[in-house]
Amino acid sequence: MVKAVVGANWGDEGKGKITDMLAEKADIIVRFQGGANAGHTIINNYGKFALHTLPSGVFYHHTTSVIGNGVALDIPVLFKEIQSVIDQGVPAPKILVSDRAQIVMSYHKDFDAYEEERLGGKSFGSTKSGIAPFYSDKYAKVGFQVSELFDDELLKEKVVRIAELKNVLLKHLYHKPAINPDELYDELQDYKKMVEPYVCDVSLFLDHAIREDREILLEGQLGSLKDPDHGIYPMVTSSSTLAAYGAIGAGIPPYEIKKVITVCKAYSSAVGAGAFVSEIFGEEADELRRRGGDGGEFGATTGRPRRMGWFDCVASKYGCRMQGTTDVAFTVLDVLGYLDEIPVCVGYDINGKVTTDFPTTHLLEKAKPVLETLPGWKCDIRGIKEYDKLPENCRRYIEFIEEQIGYPITMVSNGPGREDIIYK
Ligand code: GDP
Repeated sequence: MVKAVVGANWGDEGKGKITDMLAEKADIIVRFQGGANAGHTIINNYGKFALHTLPSGVFYHHTTSVIGNGVALDIPVLFKEIQSVIDQGVPAPKILVSDRAQIVMSYHKDFDAYEEERLGGKSFGSTKSGIAPFYSDKYAKVGFQVSELFDDELLKEKVVRIAELKNVLLKHLYHKPAINPDELYDELQDYKKMVEPYVCDVSLFLDHAIREDREILLEGQLGSLKDPDHGIYPMVTSSSTLAAYGAIGAGIPPYEIKKVITVCKAYSSAVGAGAFVSEIFGEEADELRRRGGDGGEFGATTGRPRRMGWFDCVASKYGCRMQGTTDVAFTVLDVLGYLDEIPVCVGYDINGKVTTDFPTTHLLEKAKPVLETLPGWKCDIRGIKEYDKLPENCRRYIEFIEEQIGYPITMVSNGPGREDIIYK
């Protein structure tokens, strides 16, 4: 069976932990979109890891980790990650890289940084991992596909063509050093050496696996609201974050995705610019940020403090709907145990009209949160294993949110560890 693990919101919902946990019973874990721009933090018996490219299943001996064609493949980052995992005592993971994945080149990262510099105060808050220039090139059909590394004739011709194209912008728009085609060729040769042992026809591999009834997890990056079509455009990422895209980014039939586990955090956090209706500020935000996640809400890739907010039922209902949610995994609930009262955003007031339907960006920017306050439970819920043992106000919080978003919460995560999970 194929299951997707995806985010309902702006990312950082705890997908890594849920994938790592579900991977115990899985055979194959596939990354299907995104690149090394966001990270998953995973804590397990080997230690604490920040993964950017490797799927969250690399810690099990029985799993195969797959980088699907939809991923922005940063080969040096992938290699550093494989090495760091091995260095921390994890058995060498089985890794496959799609021959149809495209490669993040060093100039993509340069272009990312140059563009942020050019935009100055109007920048997107990019992590400068090259993701937007990479996907632009993929769709402009000037990217390098892994398979092309093995066609030397093509490569020699293509580096000249690409350098010519890129150098126009480098010279006239950014006033930066030009790309030398020979250096580009050398860069690609280095990548070829690194990636060669892992290259595979991934869709064929997955077709066999599906026929053999293997358990396959598709692991999403970021969340619904960062989707380029359905998110808060233009403050979005450059590849689809939706479970539906899992079929394309992995190369499997859409009807094989039988379960969509949408991860939803018990409060909100976001990185980068863009409207964030339930955002909170000052000491209130600082305290939640300090206590949030595991060791605070700071970016796994950048270390940037995340923007904080109360749970947003409007955004989450929409986020779950766009994912095609069958199950909600409700995470990081333990963090809220310090609050006397917990505000929840239940509607958006846009020009005096209250709605519970998530609007497009220009209206979203006008939205003011309609808050409802629920009583806190004022205790530590870590270590609780059964739903009925949770404090009454805690269950009320979960059930209130379940009712508001309209999708079943079947898992509640009450700590960062694999075993910190309550099935409802
Ligand atoms: P992802 O990108 O969606 O995987 O999310 P992140 O890794 O950025 O954020 C999740 C953070 O919260 C990580 O530091 C996790 O270890 C931590 N985490 C996940 N689930 C829980 C939970 O239920 N409780 C607590 N306290 N931390 C959690």
